[in-house]
Amino acid sequence: GSDVERLYRSLTPTSHEYFLEGSRYLPGADSRSTLFHLPYPLVLSEGHGCRVSDVDGNELLDFTGNHTSLVLGYGHPRVREAVRDQLDRGTCFPGATALGVRMAKLLCDRIPSVERVRFTNSGTEAVMYAVRAARAFTGRPGVAKVEGGYHGSWDDVMVSTRPAGQAGDRVRPAAVPASPGLTPGALGTTVVLPFNEAEAAARLIEQYGEQLAAVVVEPVLGSAGMIPADRDYLVMLRELTARLGIVLVFDEVVSFRIAHGGAQEHFAVSPDLTCLGKLIGGGFPLGAFGGRGDIMALFDPSGGGPRMPHPGSYNANPVSLAGGLATLEVLTGEAIGGLNARGARLRNRMRAAFAEAGLPAQVTGLGSLFAIHPVAHPVRAYRDTIGADAGCRHRIFLGLFTEGVLIDPRGVGCVSTAAGEAEVDRFTGALRTVLEGLA
Ligand code: PLP
Repeated sequence: GSDVERLYRSLTPTSHEYFLEGSRYLPGADSRSTLFHLPYPLVLSEGHGCRVSDVDGNELLDFTGNHTSLVLGYGHPRVREAVRDQLDRGTCFPGATALGVRMAKLLCDRIPSVERVRFTNSGTEAVMYAVRAARAFTGRPGVAKVEGGYHGSWDDVMVSTRPAGQAGDRVRPAAVPASPGLTPGALGTTVVLPFNEAEAAARLIEQYGEQLAAVVVEPVLGSAGMIPADRDYLVMLRELTARLGIVLVFDEVVSFRIAHGGAQEHFAVSPDLTCLGKLIGGGFPLGAFGGRGDIMALFDPSGGGPRMPHPGSYNANPVSLAGGLATLEVLTGEAIGGLNARGARLRNRMRAAFAEAGLPAQVTGLGSLFAIHPVAHPVRAYRDTIGADAGCRHRIFLGLFTEGVLIDPRGVGCVSTAAGEAEVDRFTGALRTVLEGLA
């Protein structure tokens, strides 16, 4: 291994022990495959504000926020208080709660395109129900998604999430299963669109139009590397889906933090349905899907029309709702403004650090989201990241760890409200040191 890997090993002997023991009981010693990295992943034990500690006592500045879930950082006092209060009242009930109504009202108030909303346990389920509702509403089978788009682990969207190589033509990507074992029909009904290629995507949507129930898109590609959509691309999707009677679904599980009303407010483009997750649970499992009243009416058991089941023992879990409500109350428009300013500062300083070190890399992102792509050409779509230097990315990740900074192993991350300018500057200082070692 490299010097940085040896240093990582010397700082994390207890994580290594847990990895060896855990592997006997859990495949890969964990239950989230995306967090795995070589030589073995960290085992984390505590988080406070913008700091997280591992089992060896290494304290790290956290710029992951558990994959953007912890927008206020770890253990925000308002969130802890709200959750403790709910724990004392009861953790789940065989009935609706006032919290559910409050949270639904808050989301409908913040996001004008969301007239009604339903809660789930995860972003995966939110997308699954949104697409199913689109199929029920339109009577059509197909769903279109973009190459590199990640919408959770449900079969129909586990297609071309991160294809390893160039799959098909850039403007006509091939559908690639993201996992073995998908429902055999899944690939046949999913159309893969090129991201930020408005004309080419429009041609595909026109071609498959009559078969398409939904077009699903992240306004900022998240796990593919924090790549913002061009506004024109989203406008094209809006106009074309409206004309062809296709339900436009924005997956705002990651991008909701961009503005008070989500990325759809930032881009001024309104979808028919919106999916939410991660930060809306304030660090607890919660997802939501909502949008047009006529589509959401499918879920209304008191109505006369066709009815879609939406069961789920922990749907709208009150503990998650309490944590999420407290989080969204703290996450005002003003708080988001500060967050976005620190995000911009971070991305600018990262770009300067790469330029100074003479290393070719792109720093993408929007608002408080960022990603590092060690590649020389501009990154406007997932496909542009395929040739990135994975070894370089890995050394940056491990190097940042040895300098006391945690990002996602794939080079993506975000700023939380717990991290101020001083923390942002500590991060970019650490990056400079790491890049000096690489140059
Ligand atoms: N949609 C997007 C954009 C995501 O990033 C994710 C998770 O990473 C999901 C959906 C799935 O959410 P969950 O992990 O809560 O199932």
